[in-house]
Amino acid sequence: MQNKLTSYRLLTPGPVPLPTEVLNALAQPILHHRTPEFEAILQRVWAGLKWIFETEQQVMMLTSTGSGAMEAALVNTLSPGDSVLAVINGKFGERWADMAERFGAIVTRIQVPWGESVQIAQLQSELKKTGDYKALLVQAVETSTATQNPIFEIGQLLKNHPQCLFMVDAITGLGAMTLPMDQWGIDVMVAGSQKAFMLPTGLSFIALSDKAWQAQKHAKMPRYYFDLELELKANKKGQTYFSSANSHTVALDVVFQRFIKRGKNLIKARCEILAEATRAAGQALGLKVYSKSPAVSVTALELPVSVDGQKLRDHLEKKYFVTFMGGQDQLQGKILRIGHLGYITDEDMRAGFTSLAESLKEFKMPGIQTPLVLDTLNHILARGPHAD
Ligand SMILES: *Cc1c(COP(=O)(O)O)cnc(C)c1O
Repeated sequence: MQNKLTSYRLLTPGPVPLPTEVLNALAQPILHHRTPEFEAILQRVWAGLKWIFETEQQVMMLTSTGSGAMEAALVNTLSPGDSVLAVINGKFGERWADMAERFGAIVTRIQVPWGESVQIAQLQSELKKTGDYKALLVQAVETSTATQNPIFEIGQLLKNHPQCLFMVDAITGLGAMTLPMDQWGIDVMVAGSQKAFMLPTGLSFIALSDKAWQAQKHAKMPRYYFDLELELKANKKGQTYFSSANSHTVALDVVFQRFIKRGKNLIKARCEILAEATRAAGQALGLKVYSKSPAVSVTALELPVSVDGQKLRDHLEKKYFVTFMGGQDQLQGKILRIGHLGYITDEDMRAGFTSLAESLKEFKMPGIQTPLVLDTLNHILARGPHAD
């Protein structure tokens, strides 16, 4: 009998599998958060966050999922009645726009067809039409459609609109793609623990540019738990404002030791090779890549109409102990989403794709050749880098 918890493979775009060292860190006795030992860890973790955000600003940690940091981004910089432009490539774009509206912003939605990235020309004409947008909201990677947006180019465009804050949800982008916050003129960037950070769900990260901190002084949206002014003040004294998420923080220290040893380029290269291998293995299975602007952190593969994606996923979990994500809304049952973040080994990929190939055969999809799929996968994975 296989043990589900030890032989289980998590190939989703968050949460992600964690290396043993990180799991062990999470199992240590609790350190109180107001002790010198813990405060030394906090300092190292803050330095690591600046390194990965590529910013001189303080990157604050919030005890919330990524959506909490998305809310903090809005309520700390905007006032009810402010005009906001939101790029919508899928579910997370919709969520951010809805949040802004709930807090009283006047939101204009740029609807991008699912699976496509936003066109710069489309943004440019919208920004020209209405001169007073206070913020532009965009996902670096829209996880629901596995689509990447042109963040650098949007930053260039916004240089001509200095009143508009550039807010980037980098939750599935950071760690997988280059997103240097300061250099690219990003005013507010948010990230989450269960994606590239190789931690359990429950911590989020946020940094504000000088311009965003200026806006914060006049921002009137209501806030208490997510008041970043209080958080920054506490951080300057070497503490978090509320109780720190101590186990997550201790584990994040271990993650950064691994990251810094490995280097940003290798971390990114690992995601890229996993993405390339996934696209090629998918094609060897006869499955098309869904997105026209595929992300490096997550890949969506289109399933044939004869295969019910929900049933396929249930089967993969029950019989093979492999978890992939499915599609949401109009994509429900129609795509499989495979994550490339976190601690994914070559063996996880082989097991994942063997299980997928066998399951598709069991679902009567014609023409599945498991050895061809594995050859395709191995050929690309052999180029490395491998998981460390
Ligand atoms: C995962 C994710 C989030 C945050 O979701 P939570 O469930 O709140 O952690 C936000 N945006 C994107 C693009 C994501 O992938």
